[in-house]
Amino acid sequence: MTAAWQLELAEIHCRVEWRKNQLAWQISHPNAPNGQTRLSPIGAMTVNGQPVQWTRLVGAQETLGPHAAPRLVVTLEDSAGCLRLVRHFELFAGHAFARTWGAVEYIGNEEDELPLLDGAAILHLAVDADSFMTLFHVEQFSWPYHKDFFSQRQLPLIPNLTPYELRMGSFPAHYVMPTSCAWVALRAGAPDPADAAPGSGLGLVVGIEFNGKSRLQAWATPESVTLESRIDDLAHLLRPGEPLELPACFVGAYQGDWDEAGFVTQRFAEAYVHPPMPDERYPWVQYNSWKYGQEIDEAQQLAVLERCAELGIEVAILDLGWARTIGDWRPNPVKFPRGLRPIADRAHELGMKFGVHVAIAQMALDAPAAQAHPDWLVYTGNDYFGGAICLGHQPCREWLIESLVRLVEEDHLDYIIQDGEDVVKRCTRADHTHAPGDSNYANSTAGWIADSSRAPGASAPGLGEL
Ligand SMILES: [Zn+2]
Repeated sequence: MTAAWQLELAEIHCRVEWRKNQLAWQISHPNAPNGQTRLSPIGAMTVNGQPVQWTRLVGAQETLGPHAAPRLVVTLEDSAGCLRLVRHFELFAGHAFARTWGAVEYIGNEEDELPLLDGAAILHLAVDADSFMTLFHVEQFSWPYHKDFFSQRQLPLIPNLTPYELRMGSFPAHYVMPTSCAWVALRAGAPDPADAAPGSGLGLVVGIEFNGKSRLQAWATPESVTLESRIDDLAHLLRPGEPLELPACFVGAYQGDWDEAGFVTQRFAEAYVHPPMPDERYPWVQYNSWKYGQEIDEAQQLAVLERCAELGIEVAILDLGWARTIGDWRPNPVKFPRGLRPIADRAHELGMKFGVHVAIAQMALDAPAAQAHPDWLVYTGNDYFGGAICLGHQPCREWLIESLVRLVEEDHLDYIIQDGEDVVKRCTRADHTHAPGDSNYANSTAGWIADSSRAPGASAPGLGEL
């Protein structure tokens, strides 16, 4: 059995096929190298180590999104009738981009033998390459490679070499290897010889929309170049009624230099992936207390607020040092004997918003919650001024949300800035609510981000506006 669908909008076409029990997609656009990608599997996954075979087409629905842009939802089931996949594809008016994501759900009734999802691809993309191709990416913030903060890398993809691996998403800044932003560009041709002489060509951009850890591999054969992104460390028991969300990714076509690759992505991301804040003044002009280090107190910061108002500051932030300790998110009684409310209220009188610094996944070992719940800690070394906690563990997550809700209410906060190391901690504890091998997913998609959206007054996934 096979079936095929074709999404078309202006010059971009996205072909989706169900054949050989798998789903595949192909993107065509005049700016794509050779005009199109190869028909490639999308969202391949393994359960108990075996590739899932989608033997039954349940249905497909074609609809129109904003500006009559075509969308497609395909629903498939496996041969045992235990698993259901719902896969979405969409195009966008005014942007040469296609986006896809999905969800897989257990629909069987064997409570004793729940399927273990232990592998999932986010993206697989291949292009014919009769000439040289170059991959471009930008490294993330990283302490061990501090000379490389946000360095741009151009990688010639030479046939038959070992795949080049990019670690993306929430790897700690203390990680021993450089990590990459979750965006890459691919372009026909050799790397730029110099910044002053940028090359140009047909290309693709790729974004991986996943807060957890993922790895993207890129490799070439004499005939083709392939990019494949997979979720790191996945061992997720699929429980009835709890679909696992397969991260979204997008692919766009462009022509030009690397700046153009970034430009088309920025336009698309601002329009559809991460729309601007619903406040035309944003980004706000902020004051941050960190110039004082941790030597802050009420009288000093009240005086600062007056100067902030004169300067037209829109948000005043108390950085590290306002709380009792990391992981005890209450005002330090020596520095702020009346709490933060006098400062918050004065900021509001002066027409400013007020916020504080919180390192949500960090906890000093002498914090009350660490003393009461040592089993929450996944790291007791120096992971940003103290230990680290697992937000994939439900009691720990609930404590954090309660702490922040109380803080916002008691101290009249408008804003929280998240700092500290990565939020998606690696946790192999067997006594947490997630499975020992599932901390990547439990800490990202199923964890804090999902729960914080349910906290009163919070807007997921950010902490920006409370
Ligand atoms: Zn854990």
